[in-house]
Amino acid sequence: MNTAVSYENELLLKTVQSFLEAEIYPHEEEVDRAGEVPLELGHQIEQRSKEVGLFASNLPEHVGGGGLNYTAMSVVEREYGKTSHALHSWIARPTELLLACEGDQIARYLDPCVTGEKRELFALTEPEAGSDVMGMKTNARRDGDDWILNGSKHFISGPIMPDFAIVFAATGIDETPRGPRKRVTAFLVDVGLPGFDCSEGHKCVSYRGYKTFQLSFNNVRLGPDQILGEEGRGLELSGKWLGMGRIWVGATCCGKAERILEMGTDWAANRKQFGKPIGSFQATGFRLADAAIGLRTADLLVADAVKRADEGRMEDMDAAMVKVYCSEMLNKVADDTVQIFGGMGLMEELPIQRLWRDSRLERIWDGTSEIQRHIITRAILRPLGA
Ligand SMILES: Cc1cc2nc3c(=O)[nH]c(=O)nc-3n(C[C@H](O)[C@H](O)[C@H](O)COP(=O)(O)OP(=O)(O)OC[C@H]3O[C@@H](n4cnc5c(N)ncnc54)[C@H](O)[C@@H]3O)c2cc1C
Repeated sequence: MNTAVSYENELLLKTVQSFLEAEIYPHEEEVDRAGEVPLELGHQIEQRSKEVGLFASNLPEHVGGGGLNYTAMSVVEREYGKTSHALHSWIARPTELLLACEGDQIARYLDPCVTGEKRELFALTEPEAGSDVMGMKTNARRDGDDWILNGSKHFISGPIMPDFAIVFAATGIDETPRGPRKRVTAFLVDVGLPGFDCSEGHKCVSYRGYKTFQLSFNNVRLGPDQILGEEGRGLELSGKWLGMGRIWVGATCCGKAERILEMGTDWAANRKQFGKPIGSFQATGFRLADAAIGLRTADLLVADAVKRADEGRMEDMDAAMVKVYCSEMLNKVADDTVQIFGGMGLMEELPIQRLWRDSRLERIWDGTSEIQRHIITRAILRPLGA
């Protein structure tokens, strides 16, 4: 990173920090307790983030976004990671998949997501097809020029009821050298279309107030202009975005681990037992040392991955390594810190239990740790034909 970029990112960091201090941190506890972000608060965060230029900062300037490169976005996401997804997701980072919009789709879907008039969902996971994406049952069949969509999705998350969903559906079978494979197509599906039901689903104990939706499609008729990108190329389209999503998970895990480590350090220095600060007992002090090592390593992994992404040479394996390492580092730091706090670590009065609960999701969404290890193993073995 050269000095000029560092300086810019330093200013960016200060902007994000003061925004979070003013607009987000004061609401964390109440939102967690209520399990809900009041709509007025959500819209206030949205509006104020537009005023400081953080809204849609991930999208290029030519579509009206903030034009931050991946390195700068990692600075932003790391800071967001210190707080709850339920709150910072109101500062929209619309999916880059929308850059595949063409013709009328730009005015209907991309532009309003950049301005905040519309919200989208990314709908891949199904009740019976989570890690096994190709097990998806949601399908669309041709009817003249139209498509008829059937099936269901769950765990599809967002801060608020969306305006439309990017829905992945099987549109046929391709013969490949590895055998038959589902053709997957991405569709833009408006909430309110006949046969499309979108309702709030399960409530997650991580990031209370961040919503999951369940989607069901019963003979939903879609025009040919509802396809995002090309027919049959849905997974290729989502691939790059999924990869970057895993890096953002990594960056947010680093931010959260830093905040937790600060809390643990403070407690270890001030809580006394046997007449001494508990940090002076090696069993406690070494937990802090291991956390500091893990955090620095994770930060370096993220920095390396975003550099690769900015240079256009990021591979699936790079993103998978970031996701698995950073999320597991965070969970170890969070669990060790609860241990350092002793009984108080689990009491509602202190935020550590909330951060510990929030941390747990990071090893699951955007592909579990096991699936990330599978991606890495495949990248190692496939060149050998294994
Ligand atoms: C709060 C929340 C928000 C989410 N938001 C979205 C969203 O917006 N859009 C979306 O599409 N999805 C979303 N998801 C879904 C998420 O990506 C999935 O939960 C995740 O991919 C795991 O799928 P699953 O829950 O069905 O678990 P399963 O696939 O049933 O896995 C259960 C366990 O089996 C293991 N396992 C499965 N297969 C293998 C294997 N081959 N080898 C080794 N172990 C294996 C898994 O690692 C895991 O430990 C969200 C999930 C949550 C909880």
